[in-house]
Amino acid sequence: MNPLETSISPSVLDHISDPDLLRKSSFVRGEWSATGPKFDVTNPTTGKVVACVSGSNVSDAKSAIFAAQAALQEWRKLHAKARSHLLRAWFELIEEHAEDLAKILSAEQGKPLREARSEVTYGGSFVEWYAEESKRLNGELLPAFETGRQLMALRQPIGVCAAITPWNFPIAMITRKVAPALAAGCTVIVKPAEQTPLSALALVELARRAGIPAGVFNVLAADGPSSVAIGRELCESPIVRHLSFTGSTAVGKLLMAQCAPTVKKLALELGGNAPFIVFDDADLPSAVAGAIASKFRNAGQTCVCANRIYVQTGLHDAFLSLLVQEVKKLKMGNPFEAETTIGPLIDADSALKVQRFVDDAVSQGATAVTGGTPEAGTFYPPTVLQNVNERMLCMREETFGPLAPISRFDTEEDVIRLANAGDSGLAAYVYTKDIARIFRIAETLECGMLGVNASLISSEHVPFGGIKQSGLGREGGRVGLDEYTEIKYLCLGGL
Ligand code: NAP
Repeated sequence: MNPLETSISPSVLDHISDPDLLRKSSFVRGEWSATGPKFDVTNPTTGKVVACVSGSNVSDAKSAIFAAQAALQEWRKLHAKARSHLLRAWFELIEEHAEDLAKILSAEQGKPLREARSEVTYGGSFVEWYAEESKRLNGELLPAFETGRQLMALRQPIGVCAAITPWNFPIAMITRKVAPALAAGCTVIVKPAEQTPLSALALVELARRAGIPAGVFNVLAADGPSSVAIGRELCESPIVRHLSFTGSTAVGKLLMAQCAPTVKKLALELGGNAPFIVFDDADLPSAVAGAIASKFRNAGQTCVCANRIYVQTGLHDAFLSLLVQEVKKLKMGNPFEAETTIGPLIDADSALKVQRFVDDAVSQGATAVTGGTPEAGTFYPPTVLQNVNERMLCMREETFGPLAPISRFDTEEDVIRLANAGDSGLAAYVYTKDIARIFRIAETLECGMLGVNASLISSEHVPFGGIKQSGLGREGGRVGLDEYTEIKYLCLGGL
């Protein structure tokens, strides 16, 4: 164990078979470093401190940027197969330590252990996928426009990359950025969310064990003003050529402005306000099951979760009744208990936000069919509201909590207009059996991802991202690798 790491809560240690995964300081240039202010990571279920982390400051960020720059030349020169093998070794260690990673994740983030296990699998899948894709990073031979010439487009790594990640998927949001960056030959600095640094540090510890060289993958744990200052340093540094950010739209806009002076390439995965649309001809049990999975996974704290549910008049009452019946079966509780299906929210403020949205809706005529009454602290019961309208906060803004507002609609035109209103365009969901309607809607809904009769639609090999103010660029799949490469045109003459 590193001597810097002194105050890990025994209750969490009890659940971990490899205590060396519980790292409590930043990782820069292949070393555990700690020069910034310490901060506590708390368990949202109990409010107890899981670990006290030695944070980073701006000078650590500068060191990480220089370390990533120094490591870049060797890393990009490494042939693709060698990089692939290192990524593969990292993936295998993630698999081997999946249970420990899931426990660390649950302890600091609060999602049920079974969901944490799924996230580890999902997070690992990006490392596996990009280990393979790194061998297929092809350029292009182009037809010559004159005799005696050969033309080609080379694909090159963009260089030093930074990633700023959120707490809701503390493993997958990191691997979805770091794996393609490393596969492309880039080096990376990650600044994880202050609530969930332990998952990030466990991931980099496994990357270290896999043999990923010093300086190639750096992690800066920080909170409060240090986190903001590190973010600014990463954005403003001319050495950093790419910023990938997942988080709120407000912070995304701020970082975008900070990156403008150095004209950085940006990938932004920002907030959503997903419409979930159920037509009269939908399969009712499947639509309800889809709504439950989409809405209440991670206690509603997912950017792609159903935020507003529109049900056509003919199916409205039956949908509402079955949905409420199923919601009442959800078991809120300790994430480490096997029967728990919904854990706490990340903090008490998040629970207060849900209550504010419920109060706002009720004051304008909505009624809570189930839930709607706050629990103590970070827990909020799964809640279904009926008689909602578009003026209510829960329909206009992302709730990021276990609140399902159900709205009635009459025609396809009406619901498309409602769904497309507003600035976000991340995910959307439609349940219908009408194939012509499916294609009409696929063309007209303003979103980056559409689930048709399906609500869990993410995978490592598909493009993930939004339009409008939900973001720029795509993660996952082949396009996810493009984010980390530049095209260099080469014209050979005199041949
Ligand atoms: P957030 O407040 O924007 O924070 C995300 C990250 O940005 C954290 O690492 C945070 O660091 C950092 N950050 C915050 N303010 C910063 C600043 N001024 N300068 C530099 N860095 C800063 O978002 P969140 O509350 O953690 O996450 C929820 C939001 O993320 C939701 O809107 C959700 O929809 C969105 N999200 C989107 C996707 C997607 O793929 N589109 C996926 C997941 C989440 P600290 O933690 O240290 O403050």
